[in-house]
Amino acid sequence: MDCLVVGCGLTGAVTARNLAEKGRKVTIWERREHIGGNMFDYVDEHGFLVQKYGPHTFHTKKKELYDYMCRFERWKPYKLICGAVWGGKYTPTPFNFTTIDVFYPHEQAEKLKRKLTEEFVGRPTATVTEVLKHQDSDIREYAEFLFRNDYAPYTAKQWGIPTGEIDSSVLSRVPLRFSYDKGYFDDTYEIMPENSFTSFFKNLLDHPNITVELGIEALKRLSLEKNRLLLDNAPLEIPIVYTGALDELFGCRFGRLPYRSLHFEWKYTQKESFQPAPVVAYPQEIGFTRITEYKKLPLQNGLGSSYAVEYPIPYIEGEATEPYYPVLTEHSQRLYACYRTLAEQIPNLICCGRLADFKYYNMDQALENALRVKVQS
Ligand SMILES: Cc1cc2nc3c(=O)[nH]c(=O)nc-3n(C[C@H](O)[C@H](O)[C@H](O)COP(=O)(O)OP(=O)(O)OC[C@H]3O[C@@H](n4cnc5c(N)ncnc54)[C@H](O)[C@@H]3O)c2cc1C
Repeated sequence: MDCLVVGCGLTGAVTARNLAEKGRKVTIWERREHIGGNMFDYVDEHGFLVQKYGPHTFHTKKKELYDYMCRFERWKPYKLICGAVWGGKYTPTPFNFTTIDVFYPHEQAEKLKRKLTEEFVGRPTATVTEVLKHQDSDIREYAEFLFRNDYAPYTAKQWGIPTGEIDSSVLSRVPLRFSYDKGYFDDTYEIMPENSFTSFFKNLLDHPNITVELGIEALKRLSLEKNRLLLDNAPLEIPIVYTGALDELFGCRFGRLPYRSLHFEWKYTQKESFQPAPVVAYPQEIGFTRITEYKKLPLQNGLGSSYAVEYPIPYIEGEATEPYYPVLTEHSQRLYACYRTLAEQIPNLICCGRLADFKYYNMDQALENALRVKVQS
């Protein structure tokens, strides 16, 4: 081995492939029993392809990233449609003119849609924050209605905060559509694998210079001595690409980095269809935030339907929870900066990926960063 990669998610696997193609012998250690990190999917007992860690669709504006994905799997165009249900009514999300038709009496709906079209002429979307500040009271009230019924209770559950403490500033990037257009993302390439994400990973890792070892907790074999990494107590001179959490690498010596986790309740119905879209938010239900119905992500044939109910929960290390979303506060960023400073003092250590960078990355961002990783020769 002349390079060690910790973690076999998108970041670790792409980095390994890149290094392998440059002639390096790379070993990957992954503590889970499967490849693919949070993108791992598998066929469940009812015959549906499901995603173990929540719904993923690949989307990007960048052709070079799309082209990279195409080297290892056949993909099909897939436009993700999401929705929300409250008060027994369904609307697509991001909210659009259908939302207004569903929740407003006819005449009021027509008036509001006319006003929005005139006030935002030439603009297909605006952020909710912008609409909340609009001078027209009907327009403002529409945004407030959505905030009260959907965004505030959803965000409160997602982050474990009382609804009253949710500030509208959390919506700074959430779009509202001023048309009947549907679709969750507005990227040039929105795709799903023809086979599976796991088969993409199998092809990506299929290289004579790559060895993958599953079920290996790297931190049981790696240790630190001053600014040096040790492997089984002997100095490790080769480059190590680490895609795990930085606090764990340094024994949490400054304290834990805070994360939010998720619990999925897996269910099956004999009904042909459970809900109108593959991913539907239920902002006002107690405990859970959304439900993913996998036979629609993308369309699969099969009897009945498998779905996963998503409950946000606190992340507690060692309690069968996964660190999903970094909780970004001033304090957590300062804490992270302390760990990053320690990491930068270790010459052969390269930290990257959503955990090591303590950031939420979409897959295309994780991919782009992984393709930039360089190790010293
Ligand atoms: C619910 C959810 C839905 C998402 N949906 C989308 C979407 O629709 N579109 C999109 O673009 N992005 C989506 N994402 C983001 C996407 O999951 C990430 O961009 C991507 O998985 C990042 O890959 P990674 O390799 O950096 O991290 P990970 O996939 O987390 O991989 C890191 C790997 O390192 C392993 N590891 C960590 N520490 C150690 C250790 N000490 N020893 C050994 N192994 C270790 C972990 O087990 C893990 O397998 C979603 C994320 C979540 C949480």
